[in-house]
Amino acid sequence: MIYLDNAATTAVSQKAAEACMFAMRSCYGNPSSLYHFGIEAEKLLDFSRETISGALNAKPEEIFFTSGATESNNTAVMGLASVYGKRKRRAVVTGIEHPSCLEAFMRLKEEGFEVAVIMPNKAGLITEDMLFDSVDENTCLLSAMLVNNETGHVLPIDRAFPRIKKAYPGCMLHSDCVQGFMKLDISVKTLGADVISISGHKVHAPKGVGAMWIKKGVRVRPLLVGGGQQGGIRSGTEAVPMIYSFAKSVEELRLNISERYDRATSLKRLAEGLLRDSGCEILSPECGSPYILSVHVPGIKSETVLHFLESKGIMVSSGSACSKGKKSRVLTAFGFSDKVADSVIRISTSHDTSEEDIKALADGVSEAMRSLVKIKR
Ligand code: PMP
Repeated sequence: MIYLDNAATTAVSQKAAEACMFAMRSCYGNPSSLYHFGIEAEKLLDFSRETISGALNAKPEEIFFTSGATESNNTAVMGLASVYGKRKRRAVVTGIEHPSCLEAFMRLKEEGFEVAVIMPNKAGLITEDMLFDSVDENTCLLSAMLVNNETGHVLPIDRAFPRIKKAYPGCMLHSDCVQGFMKLDISVKTLGADVISISGHKVHAPKGVGAMWIKKGVRVRPLLVGGGQQGGIRSGTEAVPMIYSFAKSVEELRLNISERYDRATSLKRLAEGLLRDSGCEILSPECGSPYILSVHVPGIKSETVLHFLESKGIMVSSGSACSKGKKSRVLTAFGFSDKVADSVIRISTSHDTSEEDIKALADGVSEAMRSLVKIKR
């Protein structure tokens, strides 16, 4: 099998799987228990907080574990608006966010907030100035993702957010960093955000674990109430095996972010060249994330290409896995016509991807295009 859908989810690494097993079988105490066995589990959480905060250039006490980025995004958006939106009733979000963020803003709208949505400009970009200009004195929250999960567009968060913070200190800034974490070098010291969201299963850890980084001093109203774990920000017994596994994967990935980035870039260039030669159009921007490539396969429906490739043992996604069966809202926002958006596949690589995988993919796409021409005749 050739797996090219790493933006949807990734294989759990050996070290992460072993860590999970260790925490499940050998260190399964409740981290809140006062006896030694519980304290041992708590140490795994401490290690995890240290490791993940280290990878973000943050402090351990600023990391809060969740069930994944959906929960992180929901908590960030609703939790920040609830604290900071009492008088300032305006909130801003980009139109290319993941549904777990965008839908949370729709909730804010139902609650009476004025919600503004930033759409990409004619050139298909959301610029630093567009982000800056979207905020005013009455804005309590802006959420903008770092890397788009469908196209790989990288938003200029690290330029826009510090500027916004300076001009409007009362506006809280959230960024969904799921597709950038462990792929781009992220330092919360320079990003300028107040809260960011990350997810385990996009970085070779299990599904069902994620985290929020919340800048010291920033208040977020918890979504869950209960036992008061994690300083009351996220009640519920911590999922120690998943969290520890997440941290062990991050520990490994931290070592070679830039080498992996360079390798992903050369794989992306190879894919772009081969696919263009076959008559495909590359929709991802040149300077986007090297891990994500959105490809227009003219004249064939996304699902048809997807199943054709599947029959060759190659897994890709149509648009994004989350928009299953639905027209891609994001591609439309980027200005692509329905006709184009209907014929798009997304290829997303990891360090496990080889040049041979990319060549096999390009052969598969080219064969799909040739057989379609035959059918048409
Ligand atoms: N944000 C982005 C950009 C994503 O790609 C995803 C996963 N598709 C999520 C949020 C949701 O993450 P999770 O699956 O951990 O809830």
